[in-house]
Amino acid sequence: MHGSRMLAESSALQCCVELAIPATLPPMSAVSPMHISSRIASMSESATLAVGAKVAASRAKGRDVIAFAMGEPDFDTPANIKAAAIAALERGMTKYAPTAGEKSAREAIAEKFSRENGIATKFDQVTITAGAKHGIYMALQAIIEPGRGDEVLLPTPAWVSYKPLIELAGAKCVEIPGAVGNGFRITRPQLQSAVNAKTVGIVWNSPSNPCGIAYPAPEVREICEELARHERITILSDEIYEKLIYPEIAPGLTHFSPGSLPALAHRTITINGLSKSYAMTGWRVGYLTAPSAMAKELIKLQGQMTNSIPSFFYPAIVEALTASAAGVEVMRARFAVRAKLIHEALTSVAGVRSVAPNAAFYAFPDVSSHFHKTSPSGARITSAQSFADALLEEVHVAVVPGEDFGGCAHGNIRLSFACSEESITNGVARIRDWVAQLR
Ligand code: PMP
Ligand code: GLU
Repeated sequence: MHGSRMLAESSALQCCVELAIPATLPPMSAVSPMHISSRIASMSESATLAVGAKVAASRAKGRDVIAFAMGEPDFDTPANIKAAAIAALERGMTKYAPTAGEKSAREAIAEKFSRENGIATKFDQVTITAGAKHGIYMALQAIIEPGRGDEVLLPTPAWVSYKPLIELAGAKCVEIPGAVGNGFRITRPQLQSAVNAKTVGIVWNSPSNPCGIAYPAPEVREICEELARHERITILSDEIYEKLIYPEIAPGLTHFSPGSLPALAHRTITINGLSKSYAMTGWRVGYLTAPSAMAKELIKLQGQMTNSIPSFFYPAIVEALTASAAGVEVMRARFAVRAKLIHEALTSVAGVRSVAPNAAFYAFPDVSSHFHKTSPSGARITSAQSFADALLEEVHVAVVPGEDFGGCAHGNIRLSFACSEESITNGVARIRDWVAQLR
């Protein structure tokens, strides 16, 4: 008998003796695996986190990996933000907090939405979530009616988690492919033809992961004008990269929030977070604003799931939103330099087609001209996934393959340039040399 099985049976026996119930364990053959619900079993794992794990495993083997993998700033959280959390911890902010967050932090967020985004917000419309990802999950749960045939629109290429979360909530994800020739941006006529009577929502993400572009404000307005014509559609606007826009590259480019338009304010949920702009990925701080009736429901859901985030983070949120603009600007300016650097470097890689990034921290080149070739070590390159796998294995450069960013992204790879300039230069040089050897 297998050792662990013996151990399990002997402790089960002991437990049965204590409880005075018959010790009848089913025979080994009758033990069936635990049931896993089909909606979880069929869900894909996060491709970005999977590459992050591959990088960690590869580094643990002692490999010198250059990672363009996770969308995570290489900067540390600004010192003043850390100090606010430490001070709160030391004065004993260690108890449960209100589900949606401490009032002072919710007020700072409401003030930010009102002042910076033009979304008139009261503090009780704000929920502070365990990362923006959790806010997106909750918002989708709240707007989708499973079993009704609901459809949610998703301009693609799009971040890997939207589609699985739309499907988990019970809707069909309808992709609207952005064209490379149009800087990955969708157009109003495309939106018009994607909307039908089953459409209940759209996930809007500008600046975009993985495209590394922001829509110019007039184009967002045009998209919004179309959305305003369809009263059933809720807009989930994920604005987590709003502060990472590079007018140095695209002069005049500014962020625009759909929720600021009176015609859409009553059916827009605006999601944001501190992970990217404040280099706070590990803190897990997201936040959202929603119309009052929806806000109450989201808070109810959060109360049954996670309750509040760690209570001593709330003063740090206030510090981030009210006293950290200079620190954010330093990081933004560096990302702008890196955006230019990586794009120039990528143009020197044979057979690679790129859109110049002007926001967020991603380049998303098309490498499909190299499919159906063989790598120096004999790997057959048939897809973005096999390209990324061989690249990591052979020259220790990590990128995220495009497949899970949407149907139109199968020929692309994503490079996060939230890493040092040296990594960008050396990493792209490794790609260039490797690509030159594909046959
Ligand atoms: N939205 C987008 C577009 C992202 O790239 C990310 C990256 N993590 C998130 C939301 C989630 O961010 P977080 O959960 O760290 O706040
Ligand atoms: N959003 C980041 C990325 O796309 C972090 C990982 C994740 O949550 O997907 O790499």
